[in-house]
This record gives sequence, C-alpha cells and structure tokens, in this order.
Amino acid sequence: MRERKYRSITIPSHLNSEKIALEFKNNITKSAYLSKNTPYNDDAKLVKNTLKKLYDYKCAYCESFIKNAYGEIEHYRPKKSFNLSRCDSTKAYYWLAFSWDNLLPCCKKCNIEKSNCFDVFDRRVNYNKETLEVLHKSLQGYNRIENPKLLHPEIDAFEDDIVFDHKGFMRSDNEKVIYTRRICDLNRKNLREAREKIFTKYLKLLKKNLAFMIELQEVSDDFKLLLKNFKLYIVDELKDDKAMNQEYSLVSHYIYNNFEHFLEEIDESYLSKEDKAISSKLWLIYN
Ligand SMILES: [Zn+2]
Repeated sequence: MRERKYRSITIPSHLNSEKIALEFKNNITKSAYLSKNTPYNDDAKLVKNTLKKLYDYKCAYCESFIKNAYGEIEHYRPKKSFNLSRCDSTKAYYWLAFSWDNLLPCCKKCNIEKSNCFDVFDRRVNYNKETLEVLHKSLQGYNRIENPKLLHPEIDAFEDDIVFDHKGFMRSDNEKVIYTRRICDLNRKNLREAREKIFTKYLKLLKKNLAFMIELQEVSDDFKLLLKNFKLYIVDELKDDKAMNQEYSLVSHYIYNNFEHFLEEIDESYLSKEDKAISSKLWLIYN
C-alpha cells in the first residue's frame, strides 16, 4: 500500500478484445457477473504482468513482493457480492469486472482477506449505461461520487497517517487506513515480522555505526567525518529503502519522516541516551 500517481499506462489490449466486449455485454444484460471461468485465464499473464509492473511488482495493499509469486488480479470494486460478517454491506459492481482502473495487483493473502468487501461512507454508484471504453477510466470519477472506505493507492493520500511501532504494528486515526487494515488484515504476523526486521536493521546500523563513528572521531577529532559517515550509513540507506520500488517502503518512509520518534522508542539498554542525542543532532543537520 503506497500512494502513487493515478495510472497513465496504456490499457492492455486484451481488455479491449472482442471476447471481453462480449463478456461485458452479457454481464450488463443480466445485471450480474456471469463468467464461470474468468476470461482473464487465456491472457491473464498480460494483464497481470502489466499491473505488477505498474506497482513495482508489489501487492497494492500490503507492499509484499509478488514478482515471483503467481499473484492475483484484484477487483477494487467487487465484481460479485456475497454477505461477509466483516463488511457492513456488499454490492456487486458487475459492470466493472473488466475495467482497467478497477484492477489492482494483489498477493493471494490480501485477495482472500479483502474478498468482496467494499463499504462506503455514503451513497453508492450504479451502472449508468457507460461503455466499456469509458469504464476503463472510471475510478477517479466514481471515487468523487462514492466515498469508499477502502484505500486506493492511486487516489488516496495516506502515507503520513500511518504510524508503525518497533514490533511492526501499524496504527492510524485515519478511518480509511483503519478499514483497509482490518479488511486486508494488514497487521498479520508475517507482515508485522517483515516490518519489524526493517526497524531492527536500522537499530543495528545505528548502534554499529555510532560506535565506529565515535571511535573515528576520537582518533581524528573531525566532526565532518562523523557527519559524512552518518549520511552514508543511515540517511542514504533510509532514502534507498523508502523508494517506491522497495518492499514495505512505507516503514522506511515512516522512520525517515519520524526519525526523532524512532530514536525515542529505542530502549536505552540498547542505545544510550548519549548515543541517541548524537544521532538526533546528526539527523537534524540533514533535515
Ligand atoms: Zn498483500
């Protein structure tokens, strides 16, 4: 899950094929999603790979890499509906089953968890005789009419509303983040552990390099050298890790934007008060 620009990539040709046009027509005639076997089957790879590339081979919800995994084509607005206890209500957006900007790349786990959940804050959109061509680019317009509780990484700005603790738990006061976290189970064990590893990495980097840097300074008494090393080992590393194409980049983004808080949360038995103060001083010079 990461805020990114609304997609501008060309619609995969398969989504404009006669086969899809026929499926679309069948669906709107019967007011339901009818395909028993998804029509993506034959050409799924093309659609899937285009989506994966668009998202740097990461799940749109949890940021796990899906480069080598099979991955799923997720329908942001569900094509089918059935009652699920964890959703307030469900609705089938059968007419969006093949709409390019209703599709997201997704890991298997998020796809199963999210299922057909799609609650909204107020009113719902309905099919209004739009053509498939128009519906390929309907996301922004629909999200202006309907206010979904589920975040969309290309529409919503949410990065700065998320707080991570050192154990990898994700918290927020933003209602959409809370809903998405619950529906996709974004605090599940494997995600927490993966995020915790990023915190541990920076704890270790900080401890190791501070000791090394202070030793260096004692020999050379050169504050510039200390600064240079801090930039190299901490600041630049964080910048690399928070890049959009990195797995769980949102965690590094959080540490980078809240470095003082990250320091505060470190146990003093691990990093002394003095080392925290030096780190804080060095960080402030850079930011
Ligand atoms: Zn996922």
